Amino acid sequence: MRRGYRASIFHCLDDPGERADASAFEQFDDGLLIVDGDRIAAIGDYSLLSEQIGESDVVDLRGRLIVPGLIDCHVHFPQLDIIASYGERLLDWLERYAYPAEMRFADADYARRAAEFFLDELIANGTTTAAVFATVHKVSATALFEAAAARGMRLIAGKVLMDRDCPEELADDAESGYADSRELIETWHGRDRLGYAITPRFALSSSEAQLEAAGRLAAEFPDTWVHTHLAENHDEIEAVNRQFPWSESYLGVYARFGLLRRRSLFAHCLHLEDADRAALADKGAAVAFCPTSNLFLGSGLFDLAAMHEASVPVGMATDVGGGTSLSMLKTMGAAYKVLALQRQPLPASRAIYLATLGAARALDLDDCIGNFEPGKEADFVVLDPDATPITAHRRGASIEETLFTLMMIGDDRHVAATAVAGKLIEKGSA
Ligand SMILES: [Zn+2]
Repeated sequence: MRRGYRASIFHCLDDPGERADASAFEQFDDGLLIVDGDRIAAIGDYSLLSEQIGESDVVDLRGRLIVPGLIDCHVHFPQLDIIASYGERLLDWLERYAYPAEMRFADADYARRAAEFFLDELIANGTTTAAVFATVHKVSATALFEAAAARGMRLIAGKVLMDRDCPEELADDAESGYADSRELIETWHGRDRLGYAITPRFALSSSEAQLEAAGRLAAEFPDTWVHTHLAENHDEIEAVNRQFPWSESYLGVYARFGLLRRRSLFAHCLHLEDADRAALADKGAAVAFCPTSNLFLGSGLFDLAAMHEASVPVGMATDVGGGTSLSMLKTMGAAYKVLALQRQPLPASRAIYLATLGAARALDLDDCIGNFEPGKEADFVVLDPDATPITAHRRGASIEETLFTLMMIGDDRHVAATAVAGKLIEKGSA
């Protein structure tokens, strides 16, 4: 079925960079997005495209702004239960809050309810794709995949691998972690819009035997993702140096076990050397920029310019529950501030890029999502700049101005509807 959506429309064709290069995006003040089933059929000015579709098949969303579905490159669904828990730094926070919360996911019913709530919240925030950590329990990943399949979402997820330095209830071992991951890959990877990520929590939480088993999986299933944390915090890095004295760097630990490759995704990457960035780029690995988490846990400031210089793909991420919001708009606002502290500008066009096409490139999914190229999957967000009095009052003169206002002071209230694979889900109807 063909349907048209008439609104202002913005999407990226490439990285607009710090200067907001206008050839890297397209915008239509009175635009029309034509969707055929679950795919994008056409995009352009309403006046030029309206002949391609009957008037009764056009949804009139004038006054609103359509952007591609937002992509969260790193988030922990079991940690929604402890979002905004008062904590100090990473390692204490994990022990005090994250680990106790994750223990509840041994219960399949609990995991199912949490997965439903989590995905409904993503959609309410305009997020249509995410790379998600489950817990160590196989049932937690199963619950998430089932809930994502029911919603038709494109989602990457994996069961955590963790066999040391954690509570006993949350520990697997090298063999069971391998077997459970393998079973999940065989069941879910490539089914519907789902993908599997081999998910060692971080270098500290896995024995060398487990990292070796993870590397074996990564080689056996080269189209799966590897999803983990890297260089978030100084205490963590010192502990990695003690635990793996033979490695020249934190990244070197992952590289040694075959976990640095195309479709490897590393969250944080705050404290890297140039050589690490070069190695990431060389292997085609990508990085998730998690500004609200980095600020909340006081971990450090992400150096986007250095990543760009080294040609490392970067996608935006919430990192809930270290992050403080599932809203990618709020995450973009935090990214702006993190970069402002380093004198790196972040125009709205580039923030949107990092949460759409740039994130799709980081996840190696830009052949099917990230912008409105005809043929791509029809995931999009309808933003309502008038949703709150202050944004209605502050309404920008241009699409870029409006987007900037929304990324600085907008949130899930400004998401009027989200379309997943062509199916429009209005606010409150999920
Ligand atoms: Zn994380």
